Amino acid sequence: MTRELPFAFPLSNGLHARPASLVSKAASRFLSGMVLANRTNGLSGNAKSALALVATLTRHGDACTLAIEGEDEMAAAEAMERFLSGDLPQSEEKTVAPVPTQRGTRPLPRALVASGALVHHGTPVSGGIGRAPALVVDAWQALPDPAAVAPGSAVEELEKLDAALAAVRDALLERLSRADNETQRAILDAHLALLADVGLRARIEDEIRTNGAAAAAAVVRTAERFSALLRESGSAYLEERVLDLRDLTVQIVRALHPGSSAGQLAPLDEDAVCVAENLDPSLLMQLGRKHLVGIALAHGARTSHTVILARAFGIPCVTGLAGIERLVRSGQEVLVDGERGLVLPDPPAAANKFYDGEIGKLALIASREGKSKTSPGRTADGVGLEVAANVGSLEDARLAFEHGADGIGVFRTELLFMNRKEPPSEDEQALVYAEMARIAGKRPVIIRTLDIGGDKPIPYLDLPSERNPFLGYRAIRIYGDTPELIDGQVRAILRASACGSVRIMFPMVSSLEEVRFLRGLVARQMAKLSAAGIRYDAGIRTGIMVEIPSAAFVLDQLAGEADFFSVGSNDLAQYFMAAERGNERVAHLANPFHPAFLRLLKKIVDDAGAAGRWVGLCGELGGDLLALPLLAGMGFDEVSLASPGIAAVKSALGRYGTSACRDLVEAALVKETAAEVEALLRAFTTAGRGGPLVVAETVRLGSLSQNKEEAIRELVDLLHVAGRVDDPDSVEDAVWQREETSSTGIGFGFAIPHGKGDGVARSSIAAVRFSTPVPWNSQDDEPVRMAILIAVRAGGAEDEHLGMIAGLSRRLMDDSFRQALLDAGDAAAVASLLQGASGGS
Ligand code: PEP
Ligand code: MG
Repeated sequence: MTRELPFAFPLSNGLHARPASLVSKAASRFLSGMVLANRTNGLSGNAKSALALVATLTRHGDACTLAIEGEDEMAAAEAMERFLSGDLPQSEEKTVAPVPTQRGTRPLPRALVASGALVHHGTPVSGGIGRAPALVVDAWQALPDPAAVAPGSAVEELEKLDAALAAVRDALLERLSRADNETQRAILDAHLALLADVGLRARIEDEIRTNGAAAAAAVVRTAERFSALLRESGSAYLEERVLDLRDLTVQIVRALHPGSSAGQLAPLDEDAVCVAENLDPSLLMQLGRKHLVGIALAHGARTSHTVILARAFGIPCVTGLAGIERLVRSGQEVLVDGERGLVLPDPPAAANKFYDGEIGKLALIASREGKSKTSPGRTADGVGLEVAANVGSLEDARLAFEHGADGIGVFRTELLFMNRKEPPSEDEQALVYAEMARIAGKRPVIIRTLDIGGDKPIPYLDLPSERNPFLGYRAIRIYGDTPELIDGQVRAILRASACGSVRIMFPMVSSLEEVRFLRGLVARQMAKLSAAGIRYDAGIRTGIMVEIPSAAFVLDQLAGEADFFSVGSNDLAQYFMAAERGNERVAHLANPFHPAFLRLLKKIVDDAGAAGRWVGLCGELGGDLLALPLLAGMGFDEVSLASPGIAAVKSALGRYGTSACRDLVEAALVKETAAEVEALLRAFTTAGRGGPLVVAETVRLGSLSQNKEEAIRELVDLLHVAGRVDDPDSVEDAVWQREETSSTGIGFGFAIPHGKGDGVARSSIAAVRFSTPVPWNSQDDEPVRMAILIAVRAGGAEDEHLGMIAGLSRRLMDDSFRQALLDAGDAAAVASLLQGASGGS
């Protein structure tokens, strides 16, 4: 006799994957069959299958019946009744907690806080600000094409399926054992329940047996079918559950085809911000750089190749945004602030207004720095340091020279091999390399041979999947097994060497034997070209990357075979400090400011110098402004970086003297921690920016600010654009802390806001004269006609601060001085009045 339990569905978010997994778990403890019928919408499903339950599209309050029939139906009915009235409703609060967003520790600009914007805090890894509708790229879209795999027999496919399901189950259990928050555990539990789901399994099996599908295709089709059902539900919440199903499908397909590459994305034809949990470099390239205006990722460390590409393309990028792919919808307007590491979905009008100002300011800073880009990189005392570009294509190289590159420090040629079905031919490569040499003219072009593997897979090469790809079959290590590939590439580079200043460089060298093998390879290809009468530069310089620690310790020997060296600090740091470069959890360990790493760098430069060899650095450290004086002081011949950073590097380099940089290196090498080194560098890079306290550039007449908030931001921004403030947000915060204790409106229509902090690079004064007086809660209640900001560098004498304020206040008591400031015809006149009044030098 069938027992029926009528009930109204109790959960406010309906019967989605997580409660469905609870129901199916409870039902599966009994032998009896159980069917849940939703009488409101007429759909029913096996109560032991979480998926079938989800497919009943049950919403809060729907009238349902649980029908139970079988040998233990009495006990089952009692238990299920208790479950439906007790455990199930109580599970409500244990279900979906919002994914916590990271809290920033740095102050946010006032205007942003006041705008009420929802702000997700991550890590800024590529600067700039981008705004556009979101394109959420999930692993599903990036799924390899299952139809590309020919099916085996049904028995074979079912065996493969079982093995893959077992592997995914093991992986999920392992992640569950490490999960450290309730939400993560709930998601993993739901995935495990879906994986064990009898309904899912039955449907996949049916696809394999009846339709002759390969296991992967069967899994994808089944997921598509259930996803369509969920999407038709009309419930936004259930629609979102499609993500759980897709997530799991991706894991199963990857377990079925471990070596497969990511799928295909259509190039963007309208501006978009790409939002994803993870993004392979090849997928980023498929989207194209033209319309990609921002990237927001849950994962991705500073030196992962996706991030490197974002920086090279000048696309603002923020990583470390836990769960961002679930927090943002495709099509939703999103702003990516790559300067501060923020992502704002649907920014309110006030936030957009603030960012309009920020975008304008960044353009002004870029144009100030851009003035240095046309002359070659050199220190204040004229010592040359080539500032070259890292590129991945001809287009990159063109842009690099526009940005003022002194040469190409590394052409990562593997990028040419991605997103295609077969490798580029020798001729095709020769054309690209030769054209790059031509546009470079006399400037050097270092072409690096293929560095495949690690986080840069090339699917058509069919390399085996590995447990530790970064320690595996990568770069030159595959050359012995792929002679047609490397021989052709070396010939193509040699052919291009007839057209310009081309150099050839090999990645991932660990020993002298390898360099000898590589030189032999080059010599054989030269002989072939000579025999065919094809021109090349017989004196082409052949160099190696120093990115495996063992190479760094035998440079004297390697120098016998290598004409030059280029330090790959990304890999060198990951191997030296045993912290994988793509893993943001250990990214802090691969800190290049670790004193041990600095000693290693110094040793490399010294040993290369002793052997009379040129040495450059082409890892991400080369674009780090904090590291720049150290690299100059150590004596590198070149730094190579993503080209959007070249002007800033050249401009900063021009401020440093060589001997001060050398002293800095000595001081850094004896520090005990990376934090101490960074503090030392911060003090050095901001110290001694000369010039008067106030200049015309830091004065604005006719300010349109309408209130105190806008005025203070404007004053701080004037100093930022002038290169006198490095961290405007912290300076703004310091000014406000002071302003909030008591108003700095001193009366007579004047205010002197002031603040002190690390963000000030050079103690300075900025001033704005308002078009319309601004309320300031002044002592005499009069609105302010002119505000004068005093920003003082931390660590300076306390007296400096007070002395400047006192001096200025005294002068402002004088009617004629005030009148002179209000009457001054231009910014320069105001600057000179203030300079005199502040007693500054
Ligand atoms: C490096 O390792 O620092 C480097 C420049 O090479 P890649 O980032 O391509 O591995
Ligand atoms: Mg490398």
